[in-house]
Amino acid sequence: MELVFDGHNDLLLRLCRAPERRAAIWSGAEGGGHLDLPRMRAGGFAGGFFAIYVPSPASGDLDALQASMRPPYAVPLPPLMEAGEALPVAMAQAGHFHWMARASEGAFRICLTVDDIHAAMAEGVIAGILHMEGAEAIGPDLDALHLFHAMGVRSLGPVWSRPTIFGHGVPFRFPSGPDTGPGLTPAGFDLVRECNRLRIMLDLSHLNEAGFRDVLRVSDAPLVATHSNAHAVCPSSRNLTDWQLAAIRETGGMVGLNFATGFLRPDGGDDPDIGWEPVLRHLDHLIGALGEDHVGLGSDFDGATMPAGIGDVAGLPALIEALRAHGFGQPLVAKLARENWLAALRRQWG
Ligand code: ZN
Repeated sequence: MELVFDGHNDLLLRLCRAPERRAAIWSGAEGGGHLDLPRMRAGGFAGGFFAIYVPSPASGDLDALQASMRPPYAVPLPPLMEAGEALPVAMAQAGHFHWMARASEGAFRICLTVDDIHAAMAEGVIAGILHMEGAEAIGPDLDALHLFHAMGVRSLGPVWSRPTIFGHGVPFRFPSGPDTGPGLTPAGFDLVRECNRLRIMLDLSHLNEAGFRDVLRVSDAPLVATHSNAHAVCPSSRNLTDWQLAAIRETGGMVGLNFATGFLRPDGGDDPDIGWEPVLRHLDHLIGALGEDHVGLGSDFDGATMPAGIGDVAGLPALIEALRAHGFGQPLVAKLARENWLAALRRQWG
């Protein structure tokens, strides 16, 4: 089976919503959702980024957001969240991530380096990277950035769409380009420089165009969007325009294909009946713009509506099969499935 390294999932949010049932969720006894340990193994999921994401308490969560994504749409963003409010939730999710390693009896391991990931894969152990999607839990002194780094965070998005003290994300809009507001704040520039110093990967997936330009200007690392698609195929505010793809290519960066149907379908519909054609069209466009070495997968499992052909993580082999049927040879399939991510992380982390 083709092993897959994945750019993004929201399993920690699912565990955080039902902490009393986390053992049943993780063991697969409960079912539902897109990820658990047995289905990861069945699908060839060899590792990936696990996101800490803090939902806004008043304005609902990802489910409410998904329900309002009927094109054309322009969903207003929740207001900025204080670090004091976000920190306990972010801490709880980091706790679930560490618990997953403890509860898995060696089947899941927290990885901090590319060597860690290679070693885990060689032993048949699932490799987990801790990511922070939106820096709400970090204050302007950046102390919490250092604390989360010590807890294992090796990748960070300054914003999940909702504004932070560091910058502004794209609101969920269709159709829309990503040029939706101001860029990084002075604290945002400090955050980028400190992430560079700590070798924490910066994820631009939810950032708007001005913020993207600011990171391009100030960061010394290749640009990465862990879970975004081609705007030329699906004109969502969350997708990357051709000039953004060119900038990512120039820096030797990386894009992970998001499986969310609303970011795949040319009509922006949040509908799983989609077939493989839009998936392949995005991959063809991304490969055309970035080259074969800078495209991978960034599923958004447990955070979005999946195409019916994938369903959940156990459906990854069906996706791999569709890539082969599309004419992608084994070397390209291996690059898209995991090798490009591992090479990109080597460029990020050394
Ligand atoms: Zn996301």
